[in-house]
Formats: sequence, structure tokens, C-alpha cells
Amino acid sequence: MDFELTEDQQLIRRSVADLCRKFDDQYWMRKDQAHEFPTEFYEAIASGGWLGITIPEEYGGHGLGITEATLLAEEVSRSGGGMNAATSIHLSIFGMQPVVMHGSDELKRRTLPRVASGDLHVCFGVTEPGAGLDTTRITTFARRDGDHYVVNGRKVWISKALESEKILLLTRTTRYDEVDKKTDGMTLFLTDLDRAHVDIRPITKMGRNAVSSNEVFIDGLRIPVEDRVGEEGKGFRYLLDGLNPERMLIAAEALGLGRVSLDRAVKYGNERVVFDRPIGMNQGIQFPLADSLAHLDAAELVLRKATWLFDNGKPCGREANTAKYLCADAGFTAADRAMQTHGGMGYAEEYSISRYFREARVMRIAPISQEMILNYLGSHVLGLPRSY
Ligand SMILES: Cc1cc2nc3c(=O)[nH]c(=O)nc-3n(C[C@H](O)[C@H](O)[C@H](O)COP(=O)(O)OP(=O)(O)OC[C@H]3O[C@@H](n4cnc5c(N)ncnc54)[C@H](O)[C@@H]3O)c2cc1C
Repeated sequence: MDFELTEDQQLIRRSVADLCRKFDDQYWMRKDQAHEFPTEFYEAIASGGWLGITIPEEYGGHGLGITEATLLAEEVSRSGGGMNAATSIHLSIFGMQPVVMHGSDELKRRTLPRVASGDLHVCFGVTEPGAGLDTTRITTFARRDGDHYVVNGRKVWISKALESEKILLLTRTTRYDEVDKKTDGMTLFLTDLDRAHVDIRPITKMGRNAVSSNEVFIDGLRIPVEDRVGEEGKGFRYLLDGLNPERMLIAAEALGLGRVSLDRAVKYGNERVVFDRPIGMNQGIQFPLADSLAHLDAAELVLRKATWLFDNGKPCGREANTAKYLCADAGFTAADRAMQTHGGMGYAEEYSISRYFREARVMRIAPISQEMILNYLGSHVLGLPRSY
């Protein structure tokens, strides 16, 4: 058993941390408060060549694995950039997986090098108001019309849609009640967000405000057949290929937020003197932080196992789901405890703890809720009756 990261992997950690140091808490606070996309950060990551970390070399990327991608995501989040930073690059790092695996050569040549260079911003359009976590209930419909599809429907919570040129869009091409298997009849496209037919409205939300999340209204959007990813009707299956790595990436981002929260709490616990002693001397402060360290370390181990399994071509559903579950909880708990350690100052924007807290909270809801992870473990791993 080998727990060491390779030299290259350690170099990734150090290089990303060095790059991110240029973007401090003040930068992220300003971007968050102004609801402004972190263009300078995005461009720095792009020009460092990091966006193409998992994109195959023939399409301008580095062709590395999910282990390296999660190290990148963790460091970005851990820098204090949190989810504002991570979401600005998240989809470029691994979201193109369905296109890499199932897209035509022409589609890949046309899009992947631009994703790797940072020139092409893409958002991910799955969630719908009427379907929720039951993705098979989506109703956004793509009707074939010669060498085009005509799409009508509505998506919700689509992050970065405002800033994106293209959307990875899940549609139905056969209606729910007309398919034998409910996961059939869905089709995936990577296509232009043509504003003449797509209305994008930002949602006012609790945090992670440097990157918008939006309602997307699609009215008569014409999509050329060449923008279809793989075969018609198999879109849901293609998305499943990317689910485990997506969970690992999210886990790494939650872990990074937990680590930075804990770092800040320890610093404040050592510095802040009340009743003539540093508050960190009180076990009421020290034990919760030590407990968070233990939980973050344990969650990280499961994550490392999951990424190793995936990169070695082994089944990893149990570990990927467990990693997301444990990292999201450990990250949020650490942020909450960092707030408690900071007392009133934890609630002030100045110390950034309140920002970490808001951003850590969403990891228990999206892109997959903690309950759905438990549903998966309960039914797929333990073999209990499926409830959903
Ligand atoms: C900040 C943010 C960014 C997002 N970005 C994107 C994006 O870029 N693209 C995109 O497509 N989506 C995005 N989403 C949507 C996100 O993936 C969904 O919010 C998430 O999957 C939960 O779906 P829902 O909100 O419809 O919850 P619902 O499906 O309405 O569920 C509500 C609650 O009920 C629980 N629940 C439902 N059914 C069961 C069951 N059978 N057993 C136990 N519990 C159950 C859920 O766990 C949840 O807690 C984003 C969401 C947020 C908040």
C-alpha cells in the first residue's frame, strides 16, 4: 500500500497553490460582493495550462487522471477561493468527459482545444424545476427537423450560463411515457447558447456569488445535428460515465474549503486572547477543531482511494459517493466550527469565514444531495430496497 503522492502530483499541488496565492481573500470577497466573474483568476489558471489537465493531449490537454484533477480542485478551493474559484473552472476540468468519451472527432476537434485553452466557457444544463433530482423527469424537448433539432424547455440553477458561450444540454428526444426504460430517450448536446432563443436570468442566492446560477428559458433553439454528443437517446448513459469523477471533484473542493476553514480557525485560536489566554487553549474550542482535522483526514483518504480506483480502471461507485458524502460534511462542519471559533468576527465578512460557511453549505445539496448519496449506498451497496 502506497500513500505517497508521486513527485509530479506533489508538484501540481505546489504549483497550483503558488498560482492561487496571487488571489487573496480580499480578491474573493470583492468578487463575491460585486457578483463579478473572477476573470483574472480564470485567465491565470488557463494560461498556466491547468484547464486542460484531463483533456487528452491530442486535443490540447495534458491527459492526466482524476487524481491530478482533484489535487488541482482541492488546492484552488483551499487557497480561500472556495467555490467561487472552483466553479469558475470546474466544468472545464472534468465536465467535458461525456464529449471526450462519446463525442464525434469533429465535435471534439472543434471544442476541446478551446476548452483547454480557456477560450471556450461551457455550462452544464441538466436540472429542471419540475424534475429535481429525478433527472428522468426532465421535459426540455429536442424535436428532430432535418439536419437540426428544435429545442423548447426550461432549466434551473445553471451555473455560469451568463458567462458561457456553450451549454452541455440534456434534453428528451422521446417522451418519458413513451420509453420502455425511463433512462432511455434522452439526448445530450454541446451547443451554442444562442441568446436569440435562450433567456438567462440569474437567481439571487445565499453565496458563491462570483459565479451566477441561472434560470434558462429555451424557446425554439435550433441545434445542428453535429452538436449532438454520441447517439440520440443515450444522453443519460453518457452523463453517468462522468458521475463518479464529478463526485470526486466536488469532494476535493469541499475538502479544500474544510482545510482552509480549519487553518484560519487555528490561527485565530492561537492569536485571540480572552480571559488572559488564547481561546485555543480552551478545550471547548480545541476539541471541535481537532475533531474536524480527524474527519477531514479520514474523508481525504476515501477520496484518494476513489481517485486511485478510477484512474486504474476499477469500479469506484461506493468510494466516489462515500468521498463526496464525507468531504461535504467534514468541510461544512469545519467551516461552521471556524465561525464559532471566530465568535462575532466569524459573522463579519472581513474574516472570510462567513463566505466559506455559505459556500461549504451548498456542497451538501449540489450537484447531488447527501440524501441521494445515502440512497445510492443503501440500495446499490447494501442491497436494501430502492426507494427512488
Ligand atoms: C449553487 C447551485 C449551483 C448549481 N449548479 C447547477 C448546474 O450548473 N447545472 C445543473 O444542471 N444543476 C445545477 N444545480 C442544481 C443541483 O444539482 C440541484 O439543486 C440538486 O441536484 C438538488 O436538486 P433539487 O434542487 O431539484 O432538489 P429536489 O429534487 O427538489 O430535492 C429536495 C430535497 O429532497 C430530497 N429528496 C428528494 N427525493 C428524495 C428521496 N427519494 N430520498 C431522500 N431524499 C430525497 C433531496 O435530497 C433534497 O434535499 C445547482 C444548484 C445549486 C444550489
